[in-house]
Amino acid sequence: MPRLKSLRCFIILLALSVAICCFLGYILWNDDPIAGLNHGPRFHMKSRYRLGEEFDNLNVSDHGDIYKEEVLFDLAQIKTKKDQEIHDAGYHQHAFNVLVSDKLSFTRPLPDVRNKVCKDKHYPDHLPNVSVVICFFNEAFSALIRTVHSVYHRSPKHLIHEVILVDDFSDDDELEWRLKKYLSLNLPGVKVIRSHERQGLIRARMFGAHKATGEVLVFLDSHCEVNVDWLEPMLARISENRKNVVVPIIDIINADTFIYEASPLVKGGFNWGMHYRWDPISASTHASTHAEPIQSPTMAGGLFAMNREYFHELGEYDPGMDIWGGENLEISFRIWQCGGRLEIIPCSRVGHIFRKRRPYNSPGGDSFMKNSLRVVHTWMDEYKKYFFNVRPEAEKTTYGNISDRLALRKKLGCKSFKWYLDNVYPEQNIPDTNGEGRKGNMMAQLIRKDIVIKRKGLLKHMGSGLCVDSEGDIHEKRTLLRLAVCNLSSGSRKQTWYETQDKEFRLANVLCLDIQSEEKHGFARLMKCGSFGSQEWVWNTKDGVSQLFNPASGMCLTTNTVEPGSYLSLSVCSNSRLLNFDILEVP
Ligand code: UDP
Ligand code: MN
Repeated sequence: MPRLKSLRCFIILLALSVAICCFLGYILWNDDPIAGLNHGPRFHMKSRYRLGEEFDNLNVSDHGDIYKEEVLFDLAQIKTKKDQEIHDAGYHQHAFNVLVSDKLSFTRPLPDVRNKVCKDKHYPDHLPNVSVVICFFNEAFSALIRTVHSVYHRSPKHLIHEVILVDDFSDDDELEWRLKKYLSLNLPGVKVIRSHERQGLIRARMFGAHKATGEVLVFLDSHCEVNVDWLEPMLARISENRKNVVVPIIDIINADTFIYEASPLVKGGFNWGMHYRWDPISASTHASTHAEPIQSPTMAGGLFAMNREYFHELGEYDPGMDIWGGENLEISFRIWQCGGRLEIIPCSRVGHIFRKRRPYNSPGGDSFMKNSLRVVHTWMDEYKKYFFNVRPEAEKTTYGNISDRLALRKKLGCKSFKWYLDNVYPEQNIPDTNGEGRKGNMMAQLIRKDIVIKRKGLLKHMGSGLCVDSEGDIHEKRTLLRLAVCNLSSGSRKQTWYETQDKEFRLANVLCLDIQSEEKHGFARLMKCGSFGSQEWVWNTKDGVSQLFNPASGMCLTTNTVEPGSYLSLSVCSNSRLLNFDILEVP
């Protein structure tokens, strides 16, 4: 009898402990980011990351080699129906090439694009530690994870106090689910917090900063890759003076191909439409040798480092600003006018995917306009009139209450905008008609280069023996391109193509061969050069067949028939003779 009793006891105890285990397991599993941070003690860094099996969907491993251009072009090629779906949905949701992003290793090697002086530099052992804050709204999973991995991969372990991901109320359930699972398997120390409603990037960053406990805050966009020794030079500068706010050079991750390209050494400015712009640095500063911090009137916004307490003292951000825009100029003016310093650190480099459009909505209307109004009314004194000259409609736009920000300006004893212009940005021009640039041109402006012509000739369609010709005038934008009998007589500008180093084809060196990528199966046409993705043509030569591949669309140039007058369009790259082109060089 007693034995039976103890057996019963044992069974009850066993059941109880199983229940407790299940309960604990459930709690841990449901470590719901919405409820707050995943806690620190579970954070541990590994030198090598385990990729959870079900997420190890990387078709290509990096083998420690930098991806060559040809490999990236190959990854961009649409080969299956599934590729097409990922490609199309990716551009629609994220405005970059998710097909390529998904295939790249999360820890892919990057070219070390620093100059020699930077590479030889040494930094103090003792530097402040950092909280890296990354806000995202519906980000592509692979781009977000690659951002986080690059931070761990290329930073000294002891300097990363924490990485905080701020999910700005994304409505992409799959992203949330994958993220939670991936992080718990591979990067359990990453903290994820989620806002309870869409905040926009400004308030989302403040939310992240409030949770942070590191000495320095580093903000990054959710589609970056930090490069070799990116962190130390920024921290060294902050440790010299806590009021130094520092920005890396923002290199370009091509949105269509993911090619990593070094940006030139430029500094931040703005135009009177309140758009950020890149300004040249003085001619005496040579990018190939320069390694010292460069004072910059403004910052681009997404990537910077700042002492955390100083960030709070200086008034964080303007919480009245919505979704996107203006906050970069606001914090730039505030830093300078209120006693800080803003610098670009040439030895620190971070890649960022520059997109042609922002792929998300802005509830509540044009946040850029509203936010800019808050900036001009708070910081720009009598100079705000230049903004209204450029944007007269702004007079009628409401921008909410700015009394808290004006009080902050008073409390901090900040200097006038005139002082800022005279002392920090003397090169700014102050006429009424300062041209207004568009944000979308930011990348174009940054990487505009000299045009180098590689070849000049007729673009012959080998399957028909005909040549690519413009239907209308060579100066007319949107003119369709079609096949015509080759005109070998010199001076036929309608058939003379200039192939450039930047992989453009310019007809008569005027307009560019462009594909209507936004429309499915759009036709090839002439457009103003400088649009990148839709005008990039890579020779794809296999088995004696040469094709023109467009990485952004993942497809090749083709014609529908071999008759004169047949229009050009795109199709999946195949061995078909319809896709075979060549250049017949002419002098
Ligand atoms: N973002 C956010 N909430 C928003 C809009 C943007 O958290 O409502 C994030 C976005 O995911 C990105 C960062 O803020 O990580 C900057 O946005 P974006 O990259 O679109 O700006 P851009 O680089 O074009 O200036
Ligand atoms: Mn961005």
